[in-house]
Amino acid sequence: MNSNEIDIHKELKKYFGFSQFKGLQEQVIKSLLNKQNTFVIMPTGGGKSLCYQLPALIQEGTAIVVSPLIALMKNQVDAIRSLSTERGIAHVLNSSLTKTEIAQVKADITSGLTKLLYVAPESLTKEENVNFLKNVTISFVAIDEAHCISEWGHDFRPEYRNLKNIIKQLGDVPVIGLTATATPKVQEDILKNLDMCDATTFKASFNRPNLYYEVRTKTKNVESDIIRFINQHKGKSGIIYCLSRKKVEAIAHVLQVNGISAVPYHAGLDAKTRARHQDMFLMEDVDVVVATIAFGMGIDKPDVRFVIHHDIPKSLESYYQETGRAGRDGGEGHCLAYYSYKDVEKLEKFMSGKPVAEQEIGFALLQEVVAYAETSMSRRKFLLHYFGEEFDSKTGEGADMDDNVRNPKAKVEAKDQVVKLLEVVRDTKHLYKSKEIVFTLIGRVNAVIKAHRTDSQSFFGCGVAFDEKYWMALLRQVLVGGYLSKDIETYGIVKITGKGLDFIKKPSSFMMSEDHEYNEAGDEAIVS
Ligand code: ADP
Repeated sequence: MNSNEIDIHKELKKYFGFSQFKGLQEQVIKSLLNKQNTFVIMPTGGGKSLCYQLPALIQEGTAIVVSPLIALMKNQVDAIRSLSTERGIAHVLNSSLTKTEIAQVKADITSGLTKLLYVAPESLTKEENVNFLKNVTISFVAIDEAHCISEWGHDFRPEYRNLKNIIKQLGDVPVIGLTATATPKVQEDILKNLDMCDATTFKASFNRPNLYYEVRTKTKNVESDIIRFINQHKGKSGIIYCLSRKKVEAIAHVLQVNGISAVPYHAGLDAKTRARHQDMFLMEDVDVVVATIAFGMGIDKPDVRFVIHHDIPKSLESYYQETGRAGRDGGEGHCLAYYSYKDVEKLEKFMSGKPVAEQEIGFALLQEVVAYAETSMSRRKFLLHYFGEEFDSKTGEGADMDDNVRNPKAKVEAKDQVVKLLEVVRDTKHLYKSKEIVFTLIGRVNAVIKAHRTDSQSFFGCGVAFDEKYWMALLRQVLVGGYLSKDIETYGIVKITGKGLDFIKKPSSFMMSEDHEYNEAGDEAIVS
């Protein structure tokens, strides 16, 4: 053990009272102390904050922490201040400060007292702040919630795009980016936009073995189904997510009249009511919060036992984040989503007013949610594959924790069909998304297929013996198996991989299960 190692363990104990690092923390901290650009991808609750807080506290100079949410920054500053007798050890720099307060912050930084300076990206863009920071000792810059830099993340903030230029002006300081969003596309965007492709990357597993994933058909009886579910989990804490405020109110009301202690939470409620409802949930005065996605950021309630999605989310990242609020203590966490294709169509319609690029991204992300809902393969494997992680659905931790694995559909041999599918992808020369590939197989024409004259090819319609649903299911399973890959940059163009080409040459058994049928009633219009 080198001295460096001994030191950081001692400092960990001294500042935080912990005797061990969690997960990859130690490696991350060492990388940063070695002045390397560092990139950390850890699920929520993984212990990201300590990865920059500890190095900041034990190094000379001030670490700048960029964070998108003022409330979260305030919490963190309060937490750091409670570790020290010096109030000036951590500060927030934002536009709400008075001139005197700003002068105090600057004096503390100049004197070397301040170890952590939290700033919102827009405050960091201000010239006077940059000029000041250029002339003080900066230990490193931490970009928290780094996915905000990517349009493919769930919370794009254009101000994050300026960070690269500002950091450059601060001289040669290491940068640490941190996020809980794990899709390969977002990661690539972060590294590119922060100009830190040289960064050492640390990625923790996103598997949450204690969470149980389930999708149910959304019928007209969804409300009574939810009530039954909650009654089976009596006295336990849970969150129900809805897409519209109106729905939040309606469901909260239905639950209340059915004797369930529930409160609504959405951005349309005044701040006081929101805070009250959140506190009631945290203090266990109510069991259930019915909420829009406005609820949850920074909520650290360890014993949330279920997360129900009354409406499907807009992306699998959101779904993972929202369900991730269940079972933080490692105990039971049931994640139940209600799905109907009508809801998907409503979401698509809702997006159609947006700029074209945003729409394309929105559709592509939504298609992944549809695929997740309809698949009959291991949901955990599907989710983790989406995050670029291989999961062994037989031996992996939590392998039996979803409805599909517990109630498997019969599987059928699909070797010959896989070859057909792969050949179509190869022979259409990587022009198409899933839909056009399946259309080519079943011999259906649309404008895109016409434009490329695929309908005059000999293989057009070669899979007509099976229907659209069958091929779509097979395509998804072949994708997850790594025989095909989906290029997210082009909004979902499907390509054949080396493994896929090998399969054509030497086909082997491929057991597939058909997707679920979900054709029940959807919900009324969505207003956000
Ligand atoms: P994230 O930002 O990744 O969501 P946090 O930084 O909020 O995670 O940490 C999650 C929880 O883990 C916090 O309650 C924190 O105090 C705790 N924690 C962090 N590091 C350690 C550690 N080394 N030992 C024990 N608990 C830790």
